[in-house]
Amino acid sequence: MHAVVKLHEVEIPIRALKTASLYEIRTDGFVGLVDSGMNDLSINSLHASGFDVREVDVLMLTHLHVDHVGGSLAIQQLSGCRIAMGENDYRILVAIAEDPEGFKKRYVKRAIENGFPSGLESSMAKGLPFSSEARKFLDLEVDTLIKDDASLNDDISYITVPGHSPGSIAFLIRDQDLIFAGDHILQRITPNIGVYEGDQDMLGEYLRSLEKVKGEKLKTCLPGHGHPFEGISDRIEEIKKHHSSRLDEIELACKEWSSAFSVASRITWNRGRHLSDMNEMERNFAFGEALSHLIHLSLTGRVMMKSTDRIVRFKRQSD
Ligand SMILES: [Zn+2]
Ligand SMILES: [Zn+2]
Repeated sequence: MHAVVKLHEVEIPIRALKTASLYEIRTDGFVGLVDSGMNDLSINSLHASGFDVREVDVLMLTHLHVDHVGGSLAIQQLSGCRIAMGENDYRILVAIAEDPEGFKKRYVKRAIENGFPSGLESSMAKGLPFSSEARKFLDLEVDTLIKDDASLNDDISYITVPGHSPGSIAFLIRDQDLIFAGDHILQRITPNIGVYEGDQDMLGEYLRSLEKVKGEKLKTCLPGHGHPFEGISDRIEEIKKHHSSRLDEIELACKEWSSAFSVASRITWNRGRHLSDMNEMERNFAFGEALSHLIHLSLTGRVMMKSTDRIVRFKRQSD
């Protein structure tokens, strides 16, 4: 059956993004909702645009970030809907919810090991992008934990696209060449690629996930922020090019043995910004982005990595 898809944009208090894109999907008596916005206020926005969330059968969460999962509990409580999301992301949120202090401590420890000045510890913990909403995941019932590619019903399938987060999921309506990509592919900004506990090479995984989507031959991308757009392969190539030049730039920045924080403070970020211009959350994202690129460079033999005085540093191979 032909699925009818409607975009609902809800406001979010994140400066660089402003809104999150939620999608109502109706097909053959089924009502799906892709993502839930940042908090309970999404419900009001959805009602205002004519969508009663009590109708939702399945809430389809693309990934663990608070601007996508924050409204989930309120939506499930009102509708009794099922929830489908990536198993890896669900496990991370539950682990944070069960021990938020332990999570913060490990995050700060890793950041300090990678050169973050210790005076910034408390502001660093404040800028963590998902801890505030994670506790809701102890009360949520998530019945479809996705770890392999499969389908939700006759019309909607899903594929794992790790990279932006370890358990990122894209939902597809293959008959209509549609992909609900979450933050895996965005049109106007390049998705942030950071680091997660226990994960080796998030950038490498991300680049592989881009190829996986390219292999699907889809037409329209319905992203987690912004409006649907066409030309997915071209956009994927642009994003790959962005990472390739950022890898070159970061490799060059490692002329001397440098920590990830030192590299992050010396390179120029999007729109000509520097680390000192950013708020806590943006700074954590930039730091994670530098570290994920350094780990990828080190695993592909372009930089060396060593740990001295409990600080991890990197130096380019070719000097
Ligand atoms: Zn995200
Ligand atoms: Zn997002």
